[in-house]
Amino acid sequence: KFRARYAPSPTGLLHIGNARTALFNYLFARHHGGDFIIRIEDTDVLRNVKDGEKSQLENLSWLGMTWDEGPDIGGKYAPYHQLKRLDLYKEYANILLEKGLAYKDYKEGSQEYAVRFKVPKDVTYTFDDVIRGRLSFDSKEVEDWIILKDNGIPTYNFAVVIDDHFMEITHVFRGEEHITNTPKQLMVYDAFGWEYPTFGHMTIIVNENKKKLSKRDTDTVQFISDYRKMGYLPEAVLNFLSLLGWSPQSETEILNKEELIKLFDEHRLSAAPSYFDKDKLAFINSRYMKQLTLDQLKDLTRPFLVEKGILIPSETWFENLLMILKDRLSFGAEIVKYYEAFFHDTFTISDEMQQEIKAFDFEPVLTQFLEEIKTVDFDQPTEIEVAIKNLVAKTGIKGKGIFMPLRIASTGEAHGPSLPVSLSLLGKTKVSERIEQTLR
Ligand code: GLU
Repeated sequence: KFRARYAPSPTGLLHIGNARTALFNYLFARHHGGDFIIRIEDTDVLRNVKDGEKSQLENLSWLGMTWDEGPDIGGKYAPYHQLKRLDLYKEYANILLEKGLAYKDYKEGSQEYAVRFKVPKDVTYTFDDVIRGRLSFDSKEVEDWIILKDNGIPTYNFAVVIDDHFMEITHVFRGEEHITNTPKQLMVYDAFGWEYPTFGHMTIIVNENKKKLSKRDTDTVQFISDYRKMGYLPEAVLNFLSLLGWSPQSETEILNKEELIKLFDEHRLSAAPSYFDKDKLAFINSRYMKQLTLDQLKDLTRPFLVEKGILIPSETWFENLLMILKDRLSFGAEIVKYYEAFFHDTFTISDEMQQEIKAFDFEPVLTQFLEEIKTVDFDQPTEIEVAIKNLVAKTGIKGKGIFMPLRIASTGEAHGPSLPVSLSLLGKTKVSERIEQTLR
């Protein structure tokens, strides 16, 4: 049975690169009916941050990933925090000391010592990377390195091997930055006579300037929790992440979790740098938003209006608002932007639209409309519809000749969903003001 793991260091919140690593291990495990394990590599004590682990787990869950063993749920190979496994590392460091494959490195004039691995001479370490093919390293490229520090805490390259071995991990997909760590790890496998897992080192993710995406890159939103806060959908973010260094053999790239699990093929992981394309994420998200029910859309967008202090006078009003704006939204938070544009106090009509409106006999239409609506209750789109019908009867103008002037003068746009609903949302005062502005 295949076993893959995601082994975060809780030194930060879950970011795009982490999530992508977790996802490929997850998809691999699920595709092959194997296990997916989470192990917390918390040995870099000074760099651990308080909510690091929590953020990792919570956001992986939000994305829809599940795991079979982990720090929160335990499992056959517990514990899943490296700091809780120190005895094991010590025991195995001692075995290497006894075998003469490691030695004690005493601090000057002290009883305390670190344990150093004795790197063998003239050995070539080779492994077949799933993504990059055969890779070889010469032992002379590596100096004797510390496996256990004098405080009893192991270094990453040692602990990771002990854990991957005892947790019976069969496959390791991780970031490219770990390629150069791999020879050190292979030495440890060899020293104990253990079998290597299968490694796959994934491609880097680059930003718009083709530079490796770094945590300090402030132009790109990198924490998964930020996407969550902006009202992105987890299914869409998951789909987008799956395309960072992997491509499906399918017509479409819009694939939900179940489809990704079914289609996942580790041989289609790519070594070529993968571009983090924000527009693509927004596009994918908008595609998933179109599948939401009205209630789901309300739940997604309501908090953003509330947070802005925008009053929702009635559920009907809110539903009408979404009917008008929903096709423009790429993610939840955008409701505010489009709300503000729609209701803007200083209304302007673009030059292009000025030209457009002039193609029609707009003055009698608008003047008569202002007459018609005097007695109309704007909360009722059906009443507005009646007013428009009366307008047709009285002016003898119909179709576009009516709709275009009305729509452009009141919304500034030539196209959009239901005109009566738009006008109802804007309310009589705004509609009248805007129409008068055009007539002036
Ligand atoms: N703790 C390591 C990291 O976060 C894991 C590397 C590995 O998967 O071996 O980069």
